[in-house]
Amino acid sequence: MSPNQMKDQKQINTSPFEIAQKQCDSCAEFLNLDPNIHAIIRVPKREIHVSIPVRMDNGAIKIFQGFRVVHNDVLGPAKGGIRFHPDETIDTVRALATWMTWKSSLLNLPLGGAKGGVICNPKELSMGELERLSRGYISSLWQFVGPEVDVPAPDVYTNPQIMAWMMDEYSKLAGKNQFGVITGKPLLLGGSLGRNDATARGGLYVLREAAKVCSLELNGASLAVQGFGNVGYHVASLASSLFGCKITAVSDSKGGIYKKEGLDPRSIHEHKLKTGSVINYPGSEAISNEELLGLDVDVICPCALENIITEKNAPRIKAAIVAEFANGPTTPGADDILYQKGVHLLPDFLCNAGGVTVSYFEMVQNFSMYYWDEKEVHERLDKKITAAYHSVLNTSKEYKINMRQAAYAVSVKRVADAIKLRGWA
Ligand code: NAD
Repeated sequence: MSPNQMKDQKQINTSPFEIAQKQCDSCAEFLNLDPNIHAIIRVPKREIHVSIPVRMDNGAIKIFQGFRVVHNDVLGPAKGGIRFHPDETIDTVRALATWMTWKSSLLNLPLGGAKGGVICNPKELSMGELERLSRGYISSLWQFVGPEVDVPAPDVYTNPQIMAWMMDEYSKLAGKNQFGVITGKPLLLGGSLGRNDATARGGLYVLREAAKVCSLELNGASLAVQGFGNVGYHVASLASSLFGCKITAVSDSKGGIYKKEGLDPRSIHEHKLKTGSVINYPGSEAISNEELLGLDVDVICPCALENIITEKNAPRIKAAIVAEFANGPTTPGADDILYQKGVHLLPDFLCNAGGVTVSYFEMVQNFSMYYWDEKEVHERLDKKITAAYHSVLNTSKEYKINMRQAAYAVSVKRVADAIKLRGWA
């Protein structure tokens, strides 16, 4: 194993929160942060553990463990999703809360960072059990969330219906309608238009700016999308409808497909709905997920899992731009290689921040009780995320650091400045 591979392996094996702390440490060093401020941002501000008793359909009470972590709220109410997953851990929730702080700050949103989770397998719960668990989660910690305190949202295995139950439970406890306590709600109950494809759309606005910097004409540019799920499907279909990109390859957990002349994302989506996968799509060539990364395309969009681009395959990447729609797809060793190769990397917490930005818009609309049309949501998202991209790009050029380091520098500095202004350190 080369030193870089060992570095990658070590990072992969380290706990997510340790990784988040290391990132924070190296950014503090780069920014020459006041050690008192560094000490504050290294750890979560608040961490709540709850045991949620739920009456199961068979009459027995089952206890579920739940968490809510607020990493930092110096810039405004904390914001972050709730995950329902059998393998949920407090360590992951802490890390994700920390990353939410940096994401909100990077987009210059008046919000902090939080995350929640419940250890459960929603696939094994009836609708009634799921509703009682969702309500139980909120009633166990409702004093610590609220429109001006901490505002949850959907995440892994949680959805608009669960958000509606949670909002309703909080409203009952508060004694009044409190739509702004949670985002990702159904449209009828204060959800925002434009939320469904916000993550993909936001990242594509970033890609549009990056293409200008790389002198890449997006009309006709070739794109490979790894992970044709919720985000990946919207990335492929919007890249083609907004910019005229050619989607030459897509993949999912079962494998990938390739067609030099371009694939039709909508038709692949229908094929996937029927067969459960993108593979065996008529008229396409089968490729592996590894092969997809090395294709001779202009843009690669990882939209699946973490640690996909490693020190091993990074040298084979031919694309000019890697747009990280997934969280954590590139290992630190691979980051260095891509930077040295001159690949323009759009870091995850910039590229996939469209979701939290439209969640913030949902809060604003809930506060004002006035709802925007879709066009207005898109325009405001474009303005926010484009500004964030340019602040990262300028920082990267000014300090000669890669785009991920620059994104950290922008967001951590904003949080640190706010801590100083508020006199916390
Ligand atoms: P999803 O479950 O809908 O889709 C994931 C897709 O990846 C699926 O098609 C799956 O088959 C595929 N996949 C799984 N393993 C793979 C592998 N080894 N190789 C190739 N493909 C594989 O999830 P999603 O909501 O689209 O989220 C995708 C990524 O985007 C995740 O990293 C998520 O954290 C991130 N993200 C999502 C949102 C959002 O709004 N949904 C927001 C921010 C970030």
